[in-house]
Formats: sequence, structure tokens, C-alpha cells
Amino acid sequence: MIEVIQGDITRLAVDAIVNAANRSLLGGGGVDGAIHRAAGPELLEFNRGLAGCSTGEARISPGFKLLTQWIIHTVGPVWYGGQKGESGLLESCYRNSFELALRHGVRNIAFPGISTGVYGYPKQAAAQIALSVMRTYDTQFQRIIACCFSEEDRRIYVDGLAAQGYE
Ligand code: ADP
Repeated sequence: MIEVIQGDITRLAVDAIVNAANRSLLGGGGVDGAIHRAAGPELLEFNRGLAGCSTGEARISPGFKLLTQWIIHTVGPVWYGGQKGESGLLESCYRNSFELALRHGVRNIAFPGISTGVYGYPKQAAAQIALSVMRTYDTQFQRIIACCFSEEDRRIYVDGLAAQGYE
């Protein structure tokens, strides 16, 4: 089932949360910074061993101090106007995160709006991609949570689901 909630993804008790990371996987601003702060310094130590991640790909770490068992780090595309393969890369982020989650037995997973902060991806278009990939994995998970940071973002997802005719 796809659920849209508003809140702080670092507070969720699920099997896996997804992080909108950068290619270093060593932390940054936005949701990435919040996740590193809440998970504790062991996350940084662990991620040093991952040696980075390309845009569109995903890597997994333990949740450390978080209530989640796993953190899936994916690197969204920077928005350059839409002609640089951004939509395909964003779709790959969601798809690769789901595939990694399945390989680790994850049943409940929460996503932030990847690329929609500092990376500048237009929120409506990003939500459409997120929701369409979520729908293709719907039956393979117990709960797929779109964790929106603001009420405005939550509204975009709720409207997007309605537009796709999701019951
Ligand atoms: P990116 O660099 O991929 O754009 P950001 O972290 O800047 O990543 O933003 C991604 C999204 O995560 C934005 O929609 C932002 O509002 C949201 N966000 C920031 N902090 C949190 C949080 N603690 N929980 C959930 N979402 C968050």
C-alpha cells in the first residue's frame, strides 16, 4: 500500500528509509544531514567504506541509532532543465532503491522527495515519477511511504495519486 504522510523521515520506525544522498555518501545538507545527525557518527564511518555512489544508483547501510533497520542511500540528479536525462536518473533512484530493499527482505520503506530540495527537481514532476515507480512495486511491499516534509509537498503527492486513479 502506498501511504502519503507529512513528517520527519528520521523519526520513522520502518524497515528502511531512503536518503537523498550525494555521490560522496559522506553527508550533506537537507534530509541527508538530518539522517547523518540522527543515525550518529557510525554512519559516516560505515559509508567511507562504500566509496561513493553514482547518480541514479543506490547503496545500503545499517540504520545505527535510527529506528529503521536500514538506510538506502540514493543519489538523485541535479535538475539542469530537463534535457540532461534527469527523469530517467530519478526513476533509476527509485527503482534501484526498491531492488536493494527487496534483496534485504524489506517490507516497509519510506522515501523523501529525492532531488526536490537543493537539487532543484520540480516537485510535481518528481512526485509523478516517484508515484509511478512506487505503483510498480506496490504488491511487493507491505507499506511504501512517501514521507513529505511540508504540507505543500504532501498535497502534491495526494493530488498525484488521485490523478493516477490510485485507490
Ligand atoms: P536533494 O539534494 O536530493 O534535493 P534535499 O535533502 O535538499 O535533497 O531535499 C530532498 C527533499 O527532502 C526535500 O523535499 C526536502 O524538503 C526534504 N527533507 C528535508 N529534510 C527532511 C526530513 N528530515 N524528512 C523528510 N524529508 C526531508
